[in-house]
Amino acid sequence: MHQPSNDGTLSCAVVSDPSVLEAGVASSAETATSLPGSSEDLPATTPHAAADPTATDVSSAAPASGFARFGFGAEILKALAAIGYSEPSPIQQAAIPELLLGRDLVGQAQTGTGKTAAFALPMLASLDPDQRTPQVLVLAPTRELALQVAAAFNSYATELPRVRTVAVYGGADFRDQIHQLKRGAQIVVGTPGRVMDHMRQGTLDLSGLRALVLDEADEMLRMGFIDDVEWVLSQLPEQRQVVLFSATMPSEIRRISQQYLNSPAEITIRTKAADASRIRQRYLVVQGPHKLPALERVLESEGGEGVIIFARTKAITLTVAESLEAHGYDVAVLNGDVPQAQRERTIERLKSGQVDVLVATDVAARGLDVDRIGLVINYDIPFDSEAYVHRIGRTGRAGRSGEAILFLTPRERRFLGGLERAVGKPIEPMEVPSNATINQHRLDRLRQRLTTAHQQSGCSSEERALLSEILQRVAQEQTCSPEQLALAALELSLAGKPLLLQGNDDFTQVRPQGPGRDSRDRDGGFVDSRRRGNPRGERPQGPPDESMERFRVELGWRDRIKPGNLVGAIANETGLNGKSIGRIQIFDTHSTVDLPKGMPDDVFQSLRQLRVLNKPLQISRCRG
Ligand code: AMP
Repeated sequence: MHQPSNDGTLSCAVVSDPSVLEAGVASSAETATSLPGSSEDLPATTPHAAADPTATDVSSAAPASGFARFGFGAEILKALAAIGYSEPSPIQQAAIPELLLGRDLVGQAQTGTGKTAAFALPMLASLDPDQRTPQVLVLAPTRELALQVAAAFNSYATELPRVRTVAVYGGADFRDQIHQLKRGAQIVVGTPGRVMDHMRQGTLDLSGLRALVLDEADEMLRMGFIDDVEWVLSQLPEQRQVVLFSATMPSEIRRISQQYLNSPAEITIRTKAADASRIRQRYLVVQGPHKLPALERVLESEGGEGVIIFARTKAITLTVAESLEAHGYDVAVLNGDVPQAQRERTIERLKSGQVDVLVATDVAARGLDVDRIGLVINYDIPFDSEAYVHRIGRTGRAGRSGEAILFLTPRERRFLGGLERAVGKPIEPMEVPSNATINQHRLDRLRQRLTTAHQQSGCSSEERALLSEILQRVAQEQTCSPEQLALAALELSLAGKPLLLQGNDDFTQVRPQGPGRDSRDRDGGFVDSRRRGNPRGERPQGPPDESMERFRVELGWRDRIKPGNLVGAIANETGLNGKSIGRIQIFDTHSTVDLPKGMPDDVFQSLRQLRVLNKPLQISRCRG
């Protein structure tokens, strides 16, 4: 089982390795790293909150557990023991006592820290199993996360047979969810759009709700769900506990926590800023269409042990991975579509060296801790400097040195200053590796491989004798020297690939004068009619691709809709991955979206119910 990052410090408890994580808990009026009256020297196991004196004596029901200090009932402790949780992680130590007191809470923490149990356990401990209507609602940005969170609740509630958890998310049968809700559930986990739909239809009764959890709030913001989240918040009973978890704290999320949370406790489990002194940071400027060839060149000349390539969207992770695979790399992908179990297997493969190159989105790579990452490539510029710091911090771990390379399109160059300020040092320029550099690298690597093969043969003595026999035989037949034979053997090792890169290597370099036009659409293929200078109300340009069908939605520029809002909402509702969503064109009062042909009717019906930015999408098929 994956253990959450436990090598952190609490401001009130010093744990083993303070170099990786910091955690602090504070009331909203305090900074996130100080707790009045706390002792820096308290051991991690110091009781953190007064246990409920009336709590069941668990000593006979379950093995002694670091969770017993919270006063959880025997059922929860037994379930935790069964799944192998013995000690609470730093975020659990900090959050559980606050949540048991009924406080609102803002937690800045990433996946992998144990944040799910940090909110799920106190919620389970506080609910009333006899009340059959929802008492806890968790909003999550994606169906995968919703399912993971629901599975976590179920695993903690195995000894609480009257407690039921239901997951509601887009793309799944509505009626089945209604049926599940009708059977009674104390915990509902869902994606914002689908939760809103159930609320509006009266199939999700939140009148008895005690707590709302917003999980990965920044992701919900990024996917365009924040208006939906606010709508849900505005519908809740006055008396309720609100918990907000977010890996980053953009101003919009701060505003929500100020507006809707009541004097929240603040907890920060922060990946310490990478030790920039150990990471060499460089950037190169490359035009959009040349990014892939430039990436291949950079990998070839700079790639070594483990490499993580960060891309902005799921679709780009797949394009990059496919292209690298076609060039002979073993590549793994981590994006929001990768389920938790597979994610853990992928990380194990990366750790053990079965795979050297990982292509990931920010969210999927949160909390990733693999020592052998020597190079981080920011294939797409991160959304903010915090994400940049987090990304480059995946290298230079465990006292090693690391390299970070940032790809910038000419117009993204203006963001460099902000990133440099965030890391507190200049990021050096570099050029896309030239043929000469790559060829030198290839020769060096061949020499290295030959030397290693000579020093540490992988063959048995019997096999070596057979190889030697072949050499002698060919030398006799061909009357050639050992050196000529060795040359032929080296050529053989090239396996048909040219030793040297030939041809024009100028194409990827951006000319210092006249940066040229970056012909890629800013949103990765999405077209925005106004940006292109099209007159208002213009008809969609060009027919959809053969495999696609064009849909019209009644939201446009005037509604401040952005392609990302539509992609997020549609992907979540239909289960399509972002890659399959085609061209999006935004006009003044409507937009068009190209989606794969043959959409099942129930999926279309669920899209018809969808609201984006708190407005009905009103999707219809474009005729002709
Ligand atoms: P999360 O950050 O909630 O996604 O949790 C990351 C992983 O850590 C999940 O696989 C959890 O099952 C596991 N986990 C959470 N808390 C603990 C704990 N106290 N001890 C062991 N594993 C845990």
